This record gives sequence, C-alpha cells and structure tokens, in this order.
Amino acid sequence: MTTLSDKLRVLDPDYYTPERVKPFEATIDRIQELKHARNAVVLAHNYQRAEIFEVADYLGDSLGLSLKAAEVKDADVIVFCGVHFMAETAKIVNPDKIVLLPNLAAGCSLADTATGPTVAARAAELRKTYPDLQVVTYVNTTAEVKAQSDACCTSSNAVTVVRALESKHILFIPDQNLARHVALHVPDKTIIAWDGYCYVHHQITPESVLAMRRQIPGIKVLVHPECRDDVVALADAALSTSGMVDYAKASDGTDFLAVTECGLSDLLQISVPDKHFYRACKICRFMKAISLDDVEQALLNMRFQIEVDEPDRSRARMALERMFELTGETRDNLTLPGNVANE
Ligand code: SF4
Repeated sequence: MTTLSDKLRVLDPDYYTPERVKPFEATIDRIQELKHARNAVVLAHNYQRAEIFEVADYLGDSLGLSLKAAEVKDADVIVFCGVHFMAETAKIVNPDKIVLLPNLAAGCSLADTATGPTVAARAAELRKTYPDLQVVTYVNTTAEVKAQSDACCTSSNAVTVVRALESKHILFIPDQNLARHVALHVPDKTIIAWDGYCYVHHQITPESVLAMRRQIPGIKVLVHPECRDDVVALADAALSTSGMVDYAKASDGTDFLAVTECGLSDLLQISVPDKHFYRACKICRFMKAISLDDVEQALLNMRFQIEVDEPDRSRARMALERMFELTGETRDNLTLPGNVANE
C-alpha cells in the first residue's frame, strides 16, 4: 500500500522527509473529523501544497472550483484552499454558506493590480472613444473589480468569452499576457490590456523551456497562458491547469514539461504516475500560504470568514453568470481527489 510519505517523497524527497510528513497524518485525521462535525467541504486549487490535496473534497482550477462552490447544497461550510479572490467567488455564487479562507496571507499580487474605482475610471475614459467597449475580467480579480465588468473569464475560456461578446472593443483585466493570448486568437477584435501580470508566470523565460527541449527530445511542453508570449510561443499546448491534467492523461507522450506554478507539476505527477513531469515552474508564495495546520484551525475556530457586500456581490455574480451563459460550461472538468489517488 502506498503511504502518504511515499506519495509525497516522489514529489520532493528533500522537503517531504519522514520527520516532516509524520505529523501530517494525525492532522489529516483531525481535519477529516472536523469536516464531519462542521458539515464542511474543502475545495482546493491545483496549485496548493500537495498535503492539502489529502483533505480536499474537490480539486480544480478557478473555473471548476467556482462551479463546484455554486453547487454546494448540503454542506454548511466551504473551506477554500486557494487564494482570497477565489474564496470571494465562492461567497458570490453561494452566499448562504459560510466560506472560510484558512490563511489571510493567501492573496494575489495580480488581483491587487486592479481596484473597482480604477477599472471604472479606465472603462469610462475608453468609452468616450469606443462606445461599444465591454469589460472582461479574468477571475483572478477582487469582487469589486468583477462588479465593474460585463463578463468574467478564466484562462481556459477567455478566448471563448471574448469571441462570444458582441462588442468589437474589449478592456481585458488584469493579466496582460492572457490578454495577448486572447488577442492572438480573436484577431477581429481590439483587446485593450490592463497592465498587470502574474509575478510567478512572468518570470519564466524562453531559455528555460528551450534548455529542457534540448535535454529531452520529444518532450511535450504545456504552458499556462499567464506566461509571457515568447514562452507561450514554444508550447505544444497553452492550457489552464485542469486542461494540462486532461492533456497529460490523454496524450501518447511520456515526458512533459509543465510551465506554470510548481503545485501543478506535483498534481500531474500524483495524477499520472506512469509519465514523467519535468519542471520549468515557479512557486507562488500566495498559493503556498495555507498549511494543514491552518485548515485545522479554520475548522476549529471558524476563521477566516469571507464576506462580499452588496451591491458588489450581485454585480459580480451577474458577470460570472454571463461567463457561464457565453461558454455553456459544466462541472465536468472537476478533478475528484479519489480519482487522483487511485490512478
Ligand atoms: S500564481 Fe499566485 S500571483 Fe499568480 S495569479 Fe495565481 S495566486 Fe496570483
């Protein structure tokens, strides 16, 4: 039988030493009991620490987790292991539930580049020249920014959302690299990019990808569209995090390079253990803020509760619903941890 220690050691034997992993087992047991006592579910993003996957009821990317959060009916509490804007999204789509973010340091420097008032001001200014302008916000934004937008999008559906909107002029917020990716695929529209970028993806260079291609001929390169365009240009496929998991499972290839946050390389290696995943990844300090101890304390003390006030909540919800309307998304892309552990 594969133990937790065996599983984690495959990812990083230097970090996941037996001494470090041993206390995880007792904490995981206590968390499972607390989940039951609080009638809670745990939603975890693909970039979380690998030990968090052990207590997650659902893993996924931003889109999958938003959909799942909307569908939580029987549980009273949603523990969100991701970053602050994702927990806000869970509260927006399911306001009757208690939503807990286990560590308030789990913010996002990309989301922080835009605020409600700055987006409203920029959109008003641009509408003087382009009266048909619509605002599309990546889900990596705060609730007050989503409230200023006509539609939300994720990295997996950004192209579909922009293509489906009737407007020719789009203010795309906040990621300039994803905006460029959209512009490339929707050339008949003018995409005006916000000046933000994800510090994690932006620091990955073409050189690191090319070096790996030289080292492992035939390697499949999977790149997240938040990367710079000169890195995306080197990809076999530019995909969201869940898209990468699906691609690796379905592909005939055996060697992959996941160019994104390091947590996804861990998830890929756990999900598809018979293939090799090399890394040109960087660690997001925000995504790694939540520990198992934080999850336990969140459930013990019912902290930190996320609230989104009106009218931002209703307006942000409309922008999210518009995304679902435009894309016809379903929750089929969710990854169930049970499948991950068994495959
Ligand atoms: S990887 Fe980290 S900084 Fe980048 S968008 Fe995600 S949460 Fe924000």
